[in-house]
Amino acid sequence: MILNSAYTKCPKCEANFSYTDIKPEKISKSEIWSDGFYMAPMRKDLIKFAKCPSCNTFFWLQENSIEEPTDSNGIKKLDNSWFIDEISSKEINFIKEAFRAGLASTTEKEMILRIKLWQTINHITRKYYSQGLLKTIKQKIFTTTDYKNSIKQYKSSVPLKLKNIIRLLNILKLDKNKESNYVLFAETYREIGDFGKAMVFCHKARKLPKSDSKRIRLLKRHIETKSKTAYKL
Ligand SMILES: [Zn+2]
Repeated sequence: MILNSAYTKCPKCEANFSYTDIKPEKISKSEIWSDGFYMAPMRKDLIKFAKCPSCNTFFWLQENSIEEPTDSNGIKKLDNSWFIDEISSKEINFIKEAFRAGLASTTEKEMILRIKLWQTINHITRKYYSQGLLKTIKQKIFTTTDYKNSIKQYKSSVPLKLKNIIRLLNILKLDKNKESNYVLFAETYREIGDFGKAMVFCHKARKLPKSDSKRIRLLKRHIETKSKTAYKL
């Protein structure tokens, strides 16, 4: 995992910020999830967009990137990424606010935001699955208040999750480069419970020349067992 410091500038008030960036090709497989989420060190989610702490403008970090300033004094670190351990409706509302602020101005940007929203809703229960199987079992046996609350929160977010995935699917259908998205199609259909369509795309993905057979097998098993939750690859 390679982490870089990157710099960006608020397009409105021109305040400079630093943030942590990552080279996606360096991510080890054990940190990737079926919904495309990957975890950085400290289990922090990385950010692509932010709300300027000085003027509250939402903006895309890379689109406004700047060279490392010569005088780095007073440069604030953008840190509105969140720990999946502490996920709450606050984070989901943050993404909704980004939509309202017009951040999804192109199909590509809308896709990034919708995937982010999908992953964030999955975060609510993901923390239990990322702690290892034993912890998950223990958590379920004792059904801690924390666990119960998370399940309740997850359930109340399901209508939003479904609506979001359906919109995401509509964008994916417009994409000319459909082949590279077969697994993504299958995963989204699986999570909304359309296992028939999920299997169709799973087969399509399997027939591709560069298909990852281990990945496809895992996907197939989750479709066959009618599982709707995200899993670690
Ligand atoms: Zn600003």
